[in-house]
Amino acid sequence: MPDLPPRRRTLIVLLSWAHARGHLVQVGCGFQAGVRYYVPDDLIRLFGDVDVQSLERKMKCGRCGRGDNVEVDLRLPSAAERQRMTIRRLVDIRVKRIPVWRDDAPQNSDP
Ligand SMILES: [Zn+2]
Repeated sequence: MPDLPPRRRTLIVLLSWAHARGHLVQVGCGFQAGVRYYVPDDLIRLFGDVDVQSLERKMKCGRCGRGDNVEVDLRLPSAAERQRMTIRRLVDIRVKRIPVWRDDAPQNSDP
């Protein structure tokens, strides 16, 4: 574990709280420059109405796929700012079909 400075915010902030107040969730990755913005309601569909800070452990970087250095924060953009921002919206949730197999060995009826 790298040495991280203590987080400033210790309050629990739920995604529903952030959504109701027009916040966006800003997600960055310590391995890359740049951040992405998400609508809290989209994240509720994926993770449930969880504490915003807990997303740092749940989300992965959309670019490098790593989840060990994700930084999550809230942004409250003005209407004009929001017009200029690229916001990552949830289009669909696909469920991956994973086969589960069992080997049925022939039954030995003779003792
Ligand atoms: Zn990354």
